Amino acid sequence: MSIESYSDIRDAVAKLCLEFPGSYWRELDEKREYPTAFVQALVDAGYLSVLIPEQYGGSGLPLSAACAILEEIQRSGGNAGACHAQMYTMGTLLRHGNTQQKEKYLSAIASGELRLQAFGVTEPGSGTDTTRITTRAVRDGDHYVVSGQKVFISRVEHSDLMVLLVRTTAREDCKKRTDGMSVLLVDLREAVGNGLTVKPLRTMMNHATTELFFDQLRVPVENLIGEEGSGFHYILDGMNAERILIAAECIGDARWFIEKSSGYASEREVFGRPIGVNQGVQFPIARNHIQTEAAALMVRHAADLFDAGERPGSEANMAKMLASEAAWAAADVCIQTHGGYGFAEEYDIERKFRETRLYQVAPISTNLILSHVATHELKMPKSF
Ligand SMILES: Cc1cc2nc3c(=O)[nH]c(=O)nc-3n(C[C@H](O)[C@H](O)[C@H](O)COP(=O)(O)OP(=O)(O)OC[C@H]3O[C@@H](n4cnc5c(N)ncnc54)[C@H](O)[C@@H]3O)c2cc1C
Repeated sequence: MSIESYSDIRDAVAKLCLEFPGSYWRELDEKREYPTAFVQALVDAGYLSVLIPEQYGGSGLPLSAACAILEEIQRSGGNAGACHAQMYTMGTLLRHGNTQQKEKYLSAIASGELRLQAFGVTEPGSGTDTTRITTRAVRDGDHYVVSGQKVFISRVEHSDLMVLLVRTTAREDCKKRTDGMSVLLVDLREAVGNGLTVKPLRTMMNHATTELFFDQLRVPVENLIGEEGSGFHYILDGMNAERILIAAECIGDARWFIEKSSGYASEREVFGRPIGVNQGVQFPIARNHIQTEAAALMVRHAADLFDAGERPGSEANMAKMLASEAAWAAADVCIQTHGGYGFAEEYDIERKFRETRLYQVAPISTNLILSHVATHELKMPKSF
């Protein structure tokens, strides 16, 4: 079933979002505070556990349903960046965790008792080249001892668990650079202050991101997900879902901007007529709509392939790139259409403008998508 089909879910999410209007998001944005009440409302309504199988208390719905939820949040003017990670990080546990881990954690996540919002991959020294991470986990009896540093790890202060990628074998000792990495499930309630230091990192939008410093953090071996040394492949598996979900958010953003632009252009009168009568104002908005609907088709296609059990690496990447560019183009036109008012905080446009810019950099930057498509789809030579 494709994304557009979830009209009941869409209507219900849109209704929930009405309780969290622009003033709610503006106030939090100003203080850089986490939208706790909003996230709790999503948990209570069961939206953050739609991908968790029914046997663990979730709804067992496909990724397309999750896309519809996130798109509607963005389309309503909200920001799903505060909670989207729970949808895709859970996949690593679901696909690669053992029975005990799944029983212990998935039901508690589905009920809202535990939050799995944090996903720790990026490091200052490795950047996009994940194989160069140096955060190291060394086995010591029943524990791994973790030391190193991560950066831009979001929602750690608002999560109970974190999926963490570490090196268990040094890169130079591995046959392939993608080997020797492992995934640990870190219980943040125990870790913070006991080997893990969290330092908030203020960014241009309200995203609750942090730097993490690991100094001999002890993580029980039972918290290793899957096989030691295969972690990179587990993380890659989750990235398709992450990119498709974030692409859906970008479609929501783009549609929000377009609605604002077309509405304002039809109402605002200058020189005795609505500004939208002028094709110089009208055409860019029409172009945004065309670009967004084309991107939405790619998002839907990628989600359908994912739901059919495929590994749509290129489609997920293409969907994310097209959707993030459509959202950014629509954001730019929205500011232009509103003239000076586009910069006034009370219109929410400047906030959404800042928020949607992120998605051309994270979770993967546009250049890396172009590189993926050039080398995987078009079989051109690799540059790295
Ligand atoms: C607000 C925010 C939240 C985030 N949340 C998380 C999180 O929760 N967990 C997490 O693990 N990470 C998170 N990230 C990190 C994010 O995924 C990275 O910032 C992103 O992947 C880019 O990595 P980098 O910043 O190290 O850029 P770099 O890798 O240093 O790249 C810098 C620029 O160089 C370009 N570039 C690099 N190499 C090449 C090349 N070979 N060819 C062409 N161009 C190249 C890139 O495209 C980019 O434009 C977050 C980032 C931000 C800003």
